[in-house]
Amino acid sequence: MKRTLISATLLLGSAIMAFSQVADRDRSKYAVNNFAEDDKYTMLNPYETVSVQEPKGKKVKNIIFMIGDGMGLEQISAAWVCNGGKLNLDNFTNVGIQRTYSANKLVTDSAAAGTALATGHKTDNGMISMTPDTVAVKSLAEEAMEKGKRAGAAVTCRVNDATPAVFFSHTATRKNQEDIVEQMANSGVYFLSGGGTKFWRDREDGKDITEVVKAKGYSYVETKEDLMAVQNGPVVALMDSYELKPSLDRGDILPASVSKALELLDNRKGFFLMVEGSMIDDGGHDNKAGHTMEEIFDFDKTVGLVLEWAAKDGETLVIVTGDHATGGMTLLSGDIGDKRIRVNFSTTGHNGIALPVFAWGPHSEDFVGIYENTELSDRIRALIR
Ligand SMILES: [Zn+2]
Repeated sequence: MKRTLISATLLLGSAIMAFSQVADRDRSKYAVNNFAEDDKYTMLNPYETVSVQEPKGKKVKNIIFMIGDGMGLEQISAAWVCNGGKLNLDNFTNVGIQRTYSANKLVTDSAAAGTALATGHKTDNGMISMTPDTVAVKSLAEEAMEKGKRAGAAVTCRVNDATPAVFFSHTATRKNQEDIVEQMANSGVYFLSGGGTKFWRDREDGKDITEVVKAKGYSYVETKEDLMAVQNGPVVALMDSYELKPSLDRGDILPASVSKALELLDNRKGFFLMVEGSMIDDGGHDNKAGHTMEEIFDFDKTVGLVLEWAAKDGETLVIVTGDHATGGMTLLSGDIGDKRIRVNFSTTGHNGIALPVFAWGPHSEDFVGIYENTELSDRIRALIR
């Protein structure tokens, strides 16, 4: 009897909690602070994951490089629990481990980590695809374009933030935002989506870089609906003034943009696409379990649609990893059946733990092992032909 009473109270309690979570979300347009308790999260809308067959062939025509900014195994494990013990990431057949330290720090930032992933060179924190002595080094996207392929990036931050920047620009510091934008506009990028109109047409130097890309024949759009209507590349889509909104508020912009990217980039010679779940990092910095989880789900749903596309294509290698982990998150308790977690955070910064690398498709076995983030880049580069 007593037991029943306790269970009933608990049930009522969790029902109220679940209700207040929904109500909190609805009250504010901004998801970050909508969760009553930052260290707990209960999944309300679990999603179905895809199940795909890895292609048998060995030819790599296209490469899709997906980076969860601030996504370590701790965030992935927690998300797996919250979605009831399944993620699209479960499909990956070959897994490796990459070390993330930069040229000057054990704990990297996104610029140095991105430079390592994009170019195969360790550099100092803050630098964009340059060595510590400021020599520009070629990115995987530039390598692909040199080989006649199309290259693109779809992100949820401003397109000139560190992770997209390292693929299409070179500068001594990530703070050179307006310079990065000009370089990106002249890089030959075929598909670029994310946020950041402020750095393109509301600039301190008075230039309007959207006019530069329009003059080059790009479609330039500022909403998801307009992006979906674009029939031919190249395209630049800047769908907010700075970063895109957090996951719950921006809806399906990332998966929709990636679907459009695949449609426009696909061609006889192949393509290189970088996809970033940029705001997983923000949830970590803010020590918000809920925001972190919602961003991982958005990223993992995008992984699902990429895998389905790649399974049909048969000549596409998909690599998923992070640039560093953020927040020093620990999964303390939870329940797979109840889809809930309790975590703690040990820092509001990044941390230095090595990261998983998930590989799927032709040559995915090349990515098994323990190696540097630079070696991961080298192994991808070897397959850009
Ligand atoms: Zn960060």
